[in-house]
Amino acid sequence: MVSTNRVLRSKTVSLLQRHNFIAFECLTATDAMQCLSEHKNVRLVITDNTLPDMTGTHFVASLRKAFSKEQLAIMGVAGGKGMLMSAHFIKSGANDFLRVPYCHEEFLCRVMQNVEYIESVEEIRRVANTDYLTGLPNRRHFFYMVTVQHQNLSEDHALALIDLDFFKSINDTHGHDAGDIVLKAMAALIEFYFPDEIISRFGGEEFCIYMPSTPLKEACERLDDFRKVVEAEIIQLPKSDIKVTCSIGVSGAHTQRVDKLLSLADKQLYAAKNSGRNQVKCEPPDVPQQEQASLL
Ligand code: GH3
Ligand code: MG
Ligand code: MG
Repeated sequence: MVSTNRVLRSKTVSLLQRHNFIAFECLTATDAMQCLSEHKNVRLVITDNTLPDMTGTHFVASLRKAFSKEQLAIMGVAGGKGMLMSAHFIKSGANDFLRVPYCHEEFLCRVMQNVEYIESVEEIRRVANTDYLTGLPNRRHFFYMVTVQHQNLSEDHALALIDLDFFKSINDTHGHDAGDIVLKAMAALIEFYFPDEIISRFGGEEFCIYMPSTPLKEACERLDDFRKVVEAEIIQLPKSDIKVTCSIGVSGAHTQRVDKLLSLADKQLYAAKNSGRNQVKCEPPDVPQQEQASLL
């Protein structure tokens, strides 16, 4: 709650706290910005129009440069009789407006509605970005994370495609549910061994790892260690225990294009399968620069 009006501020905050919201009091727009940077999980800002450092509507407009309506709900509040205040707030980017003094019941309904809106967008986003079986980021989200969050793909980086060996025969022998258990176990291993990398279930029994700031040689060593971990892992199924292996193709090409990295890693994965599976194949380090460039 952002307001210089101490009574309004403390009444609003204690009303929210009585309904189990975590609420913060701020006197100025600058304080509120600071509070938002410290508390990333704030879902709703309620702001008065008369603030010492800027008007509430200017504050809303500047908040909107940093947060979309789907990330942060903003509710303007103001006293007086001016009919246009509500329109000013909404035009500046507020989701809602309420005149003070407000009826507690209406205030709480509007707060709930705004918070639920933000939470349902978050849930839709989470479902859209996640593989339902393993809980790992899905292929679409992987591309987003690599291309948007790592806009300047680093010089030293690597991308690995991991594919389980003879997975179809696990399904055929132990059943589809057992196959699902294996996929979940594999996802958990990847999450554990690559906590700082961008990981994804790409589809079927294929997983992808993007390793920023990792030279190809180091990436291949870590992936070969991981291959050995997979080989040694005993996966418990309802009726028996099984072991699996995986093949891994890696590319460390100095390209900004993820699709190129992927197709180069896929070629190496294909080579790993053809050479007998359960192995890591990296792009040959001795590919001449010119030849490498022509591959990109
Ligand atoms: P390779 O060593 O050449 O990779 O052989 P593979 O048997 O692992 O590969 P193949 O592409 O022949 O078979 C992949 C199988 O993965 C076929 C498909 O039914 C199964 N599969 C794909 N998605 C799922 C899933 O979500 N759950 C289960 N249980 N199986 C899946
Ligand atoms: Mg396979
Ligand atoms: Mg496959």
